[in-house]
Amino acid sequence: MPNLVYDFAAGNKDMKDLLGGKGANLAEMTNLGLPVPPGFTITTEACKVYLKTGSVPPELADEIDHHVDELQRRMGKKLGQADDPLLVSVRSGAAASMPGMMETVLNVGLNDDSVNGLAHQSGNPRFAWDAYRRLIQMFGKTVLGMEGEVFEDALEKAKEAKGARSDLDLDADDLKALVENFKHAVHEHTGREFPQDPRTQMDLAIAAVFGSWNSERAILYRRQERIGADLGTAVNICSMVFGNLGMDSGTGVAFTRDPSTGQQGVYGDYLQNAQGEDVVAGIRNTVPLADLEQIDKASYDDLMRIMATLEGHYRDLCDIEFTVERGKLWMLQTRVGKRTAAAAFRIATSLVDEGVIDIDEALRRVKGAQLAQLMFPRFDADASKEKIAKGIGASPGAASGKVVFTSAAAVEAAERGEKVILVRRETNPDDLHGMIAAQGILTSRGGKTSHAAVVARGMGKTCVCGAEELDVNVAQGTIKVHGSVIEAGEMISIDGTTGEVFRGEVPVVPSPVVQYFEGSLAPDAGDELVESVHRLISHADDVRRLGVRTNADTAEDAARALRFGAEGIGLCRTEHMFLGERRVSVERLILAETDEEREGALAELEPLQRGDFLELLAAMDGVPVTIRLIDPPLHEFLPSMEDLAVKVALARERGEDPGHDAALLVAVERLHEENPMLGLRGVRLGLVVPGLFAMQVRAIASATVELRSQGKDPQPEIMIPLVGAVQELHLARDEVERVLAEVGVAGEIPIGTMIELPRAAVIADQIAEAADFFSFGTNDLTQTTWGFSRDDVEGAFFSRYLEKGIFAVSPFESIDREGVGALVRTGVDRGRATKPELKLGICGEHGGDPDSIHFFHEAGLDYVSCSPFRIPVARLEAGRASL
Ligand code: PEP
Ligand code: MG
Repeated sequence: MPNLVYDFAAGNKDMKDLLGGKGANLAEMTNLGLPVPPGFTITTEACKVYLKTGSVPPELADEIDHHVDELQRRMGKKLGQADDPLLVSVRSGAAASMPGMMETVLNVGLNDDSVNGLAHQSGNPRFAWDAYRRLIQMFGKTVLGMEGEVFEDALEKAKEAKGARSDLDLDADDLKALVENFKHAVHEHTGREFPQDPRTQMDLAIAAVFGSWNSERAILYRRQERIGADLGTAVNICSMVFGNLGMDSGTGVAFTRDPSTGQQGVYGDYLQNAQGEDVVAGIRNTVPLADLEQIDKASYDDLMRIMATLEGHYRDLCDIEFTVERGKLWMLQTRVGKRTAAAAFRIATSLVDEGVIDIDEALRRVKGAQLAQLMFPRFDADASKEKIAKGIGASPGAASGKVVFTSAAAVEAAERGEKVILVRRETNPDDLHGMIAAQGILTSRGGKTSHAAVVARGMGKTCVCGAEELDVNVAQGTIKVHGSVIEAGEMISIDGTTGEVFRGEVPVVPSPVVQYFEGSLAPDAGDELVESVHRLISHADDVRRLGVRTNADTAEDAARALRFGAEGIGLCRTEHMFLGERRVSVERLILAETDEEREGALAELEPLQRGDFLELLAAMDGVPVTIRLIDPPLHEFLPSMEDLAVKVALARERGEDPGHDAALLVAVERLHEENPMLGLRGVRLGLVVPGLFAMQVRAIASATVELRSQGKDPQPEIMIPLVGAVQELHLARDEVERVLAEVGVAGEIPIGTMIELPRAAVIADQIAEAADFFSFGTNDLTQTTWGFSRDDVEGAFFSRYLEKGIFAVSPFESIDREGVGALVRTGVDRGRATKPELKLGICGEHGGDPDSIHFFHEAGLDYVSCSPFRIPVARLEAGRASL
């Protein structure tokens, strides 16, 4: 069995998994020769045993004995020694920082005897009795599981009895009485005495820290931060130093540079005559760190020297906790500091300019998620807000507007120049116009891949989904929430990052980073953040191997994507072109009973499609545009069966002729499917509705010819969706080729397919024979691999799956490497085995997800395709993946 306990001098900063972040960094500082109070760390391995078995490993006691002996020898005093006791702190410290989530016990080693020794040694009896009462209080709460209020009430009573305003007004005798009180309380509530043996105190505190790994708040925090549930925490036993021994003592926090801007300078706070917890509790006001220079110049100079050493050593912003004990500086903790997204970018490029790191390292240190945060306008943090609900932050941003409940109302209001939030129980493709017109979308049902979410992200529009506290009644035009009612026309605000919903208008601040990507703010215009973003994204572009394309269906989206750096379109969903007034023609196509009727409907649609492709290909001149032939089930273009049935029945009841509605209802019933996502869609539709694919291909080919005649360079690629058998692709391809030949562009437009069914991935070697390229449709591939309905599961039960740790993040959001990812790899390997030069892309939602982009890089794809607003993130992450 490897060691379970390491002296601080035996570890280093790279041993975080074993020693936790705090332990590893205390070890590093010890070895740098910095003044760290001596101590040792009990490993996360010991914690894992405790969590599994309910007790510490049997050999731990001996190892601790050995390290305690060593510590006592070095300090020249013993735990519990009556005349001059050694005191230690027992602190948690996991590999990933979990601030405040787990337990700490200070002043371990005090008892009824040694408190007198401490009083004598420190010459400060009040301090000694205060330290003892703090120990009993922390021990009672943390180790013995008592309610904190028991102690707080007793403290309050002591103050009242004395007429004291603050803890500091209690003298040594008061505190001595309080200690007696606390000990009684311990006995009363737990049936046992407060343990007088220091080693018992220590052992119990260690077990309590281990146990706090599974406290409710720690579990919740880990889930949110995606920290593994089985990593365990280390425990640090550190000899105590005291910042509360008088005015020549104190405690503080420091940053080696400004954590919110990255600027160099002296940042932090200091509090004289205090312990760390007093700073956190905000009992007294701290002073700026710079004031320490006046208070205690020697300690200040030491601290400045140490900060420079730490920054030089870690080559990054560090944050520090320190204590001054009677004029002597001690380092209690350091770590590479947390920072805001803006500071991450600025610090990274500043460190390059200072010659501390190179530009590759700078790129490693910024994340796509941070860039995404910088791109959305956000609510002014200082504004007052009334929160009414919390849903799923489905598409980031901050939007305010008047509540509207229908697409038509949204469009009308937008035409009047009003800002609106479209509120629905859930959205459907019919709501698209309303979604475009609205500032934001709020639904009470659905998750991150619901229709509302996917479409909103595509448009870069703020969206909150699944706000289940809201009772949305579209017919009545009301939202009921917690007993109050919001009506159409009232102002609300939604935060698509946090999922919060507010009543009223919350002011927002725009993002300069978007202005830069849009081209309206030059990188050298003097905005330091924009300059940093520009430098790092330019470097990402230089080093990345993955291409970045966009998912776009309109010339406007395409143009924005180009400005954001897209290198083409990876997915144009042509079904999005059949909405709005064109639905009538689609309806006619579906209802056609004769060849003539069907051909008539197709003939109506063709010039419209041609116009779409002319615009799109012109906007994307000279770069590839992958156009996917129509995919979703036709009934999505028809009215709801239930609504129609009611309408027809009502008409009949009134003795009226339902006319067209009756014919429509028959068709809708005929086309109704129990599982439309697994039904008549994709290539199946093209193969069973004669002339549909041909119409689209003719529109693409003739738009291409026309643009070429204008001297342009259109580069369409035709993509067949939802293929599961090579025969399907052969048949579809034959038809596409026939039409291309008719228009005179035979062999000039690549014909490829989506890989979005497990079967397609498995037989990718066969499919590659009939495909010029593949694009992985990871939305459907996830849906069909897991058997999860992408439209339903997130709202229905994913939150419980996340809680139970079945996955740490929705597989619709970030690629499931083991399952769906394995199929992608299979598709890549088998496809390339047939055609080594086969071009491979991905166009599911995962194309814009940072973790997934790293996977696609590793899997050897040629490009990712994502919505326009995620292009910068994809460029950055593709660059980082290449390092
Ligand atoms: C997919 O399935 O991943 C895809 C891109 O197609 P859609 O989302 O349109 O089904
Ligand atoms: Mg799909």
